[in-house]
Amino acid sequence: MDRKELANLIFPDVKDYTYYEEKYPQRNLPEGAIVTRYAPSPTGVVHIGGLYQSLIAKVIAKKTGGVFFVRIEDTDQKREIENGAEQILNSLKDYGLSPDETMGIDGNDIGNYGPYMQSKRKHIYQSYAKKLIEEGNAYPCFCSAEDLENIRQNQEKAKERTGYYGKWTKCRNMPIDMAIEKIKNGDPYIIRFKSPGNPERKIKHKDVIKGSIEFPENDQDIIIIKSDGLPTYHFAHAVDDHLMGTNLVIRGDEWLASVPLHLQLFYVLGFKAPKYAHIAPIMKQDGDGKRKLSKRKDPEAAVGYYKEEGIPKDSVIEYLMNIANSNFEAWRKQNPDKSVYEFDFDLKKMGVSGALFDMVKMLDVSKNVISKYTAEEVYSSAYDWAKEYDNELLEMLENKEYSLKVLGIERGNIKPRKDIAKWSDVKHIIYYMYPEKFDRNGEFEYQKITDKEEIEKIIKTYFEKYYDESDDKQTWFDKIKDLSESLGYSREVKEYKANPEKYKGHVGDISTVIRVKLTGRSNTPDLYEIMKVLGKDEILRRI
Ligand code: GLU
Repeated sequence: MDRKELANLIFPDVKDYTYYEEKYPQRNLPEGAIVTRYAPSPTGVVHIGGLYQSLIAKVIAKKTGGVFFVRIEDTDQKREIENGAEQILNSLKDYGLSPDETMGIDGNDIGNYGPYMQSKRKHIYQSYAKKLIEEGNAYPCFCSAEDLENIRQNQEKAKERTGYYGKWTKCRNMPIDMAIEKIKNGDPYIIRFKSPGNPERKIKHKDVIKGSIEFPENDQDIIIIKSDGLPTYHFAHAVDDHLMGTNLVIRGDEWLASVPLHLQLFYVLGFKAPKYAHIAPIMKQDGDGKRKLSKRKDPEAAVGYYKEEGIPKDSVIEYLMNIANSNFEAWRKQNPDKSVYEFDFDLKKMGVSGALFDMVKMLDVSKNVISKYTAEEVYSSAYDWAKEYDNELLEMLENKEYSLKVLGIERGNIKPRKDIAKWSDVKHIIYYMYPEKFDRNGEFEYQKITDKEEIEKIIKTYFEKYYDESDDKQTWFDKIKDLSESLGYSREVKEYKANPEKYKGHVGDISTVIRVKLTGRSNTPDLYEIMKVLGKDEILRRI
């Protein structure tokens, strides 16, 4: 009896692997084009780290005229959640990260290298496993959980490495006849890779991000096909990334230690190995130390968090670019209106250890992003958010014409307002502009001038003698200066600073009094514009 017979007995119905080699020919792409992928397991909600990886993969593929595809790795069916794949694909789409190729939500693949879901590729993995068995590079293993536990205990006693390797590989040298008999007998088994490695020997790996690393060769006879007929991650990775034409694997650095095994699998399978770029996880400051951003501990790790908070998607993407390549920020300053895909992203500039996630910085980035929105864009985004999360804001925004004016204050000019970081800020930021929300009897904090009589005098004089709704900005401002002078304050701040003893204060103190009186706040966007939007009637009501 020979290995061919054994292979046929195990996989009687699979096609010869050459069929797949022909079905999925090499991609015809320009020199230097990167084919890469994001390969999530559908085991939970999308994590910010997943967006981060997809973004990097997409940016690299686009930059090089290559391909970015998404493969759903659902071979661990116990951990799978319902609609997991759909959720992932929808989130990617939401964030503008749709791949060039993937499974369609309706079940139809987009792309010629599918299926893009591993559970639908069972026959393909089995075909390559069959090839390995025929060649003597894989074998059925009949060890029970108990056998494996015994091996482990003996290894511990002997103070040796644990695992299925070398002299511990009980089934590796089982006579073929015996294996055939056991299978015919119905004994349960799985398929193991027969590793040619020797850990005394070293391999060199040059990682695109981590640089050169030496590893001992792999000698573990890992499982390649499990008892449910599905492959393990390692085997599927080699088969899929070969057939799908991946030439650069971008993935989390928890897989770095598996590189010796993966290179060995590629070699034994006769495939050209891809390059690898292992990305460090996103970190978070925790007290004095750093730790991985955690799905369990950190709400901001889940992509849904940003939706609830009303942080726009382009802000999230922009921020992720910031932490992925630190020179992005400077580029953005030079190129405020370009798409992130025009940035010359460089994997080599990614940190070897994880980038620090900083919410304050993210919100800062978001303020910049939103500052470029038109009033109409701010309005519709805030409105959509309010519909789901905030009735009060929704009511305010129902008055669209007025709201557009409010949101249009200091927008669309060279120095646009930068006070909105998320839609959940909007209500608080524009509240006072709405007559029904403004409490004119509120306890306002006047800044420098606090004397009630003085405040009354300033307001009275201004509105009786100077204010004219139709003034243009320059006239409006000149009048505030005139008002200041008439009440013993300097027309310019500089003047006051040079001779403080000559004045009660300066023009800024005066305009602050008007500002606080009309808005309840000492810090607002441009007061002239605010007064224009409020209009005379409302202003007079407020004073
Ligand atoms: N399914 C693996 C994971 O989610 C993919 C790793 C890879 O990109 O190869 O970690």
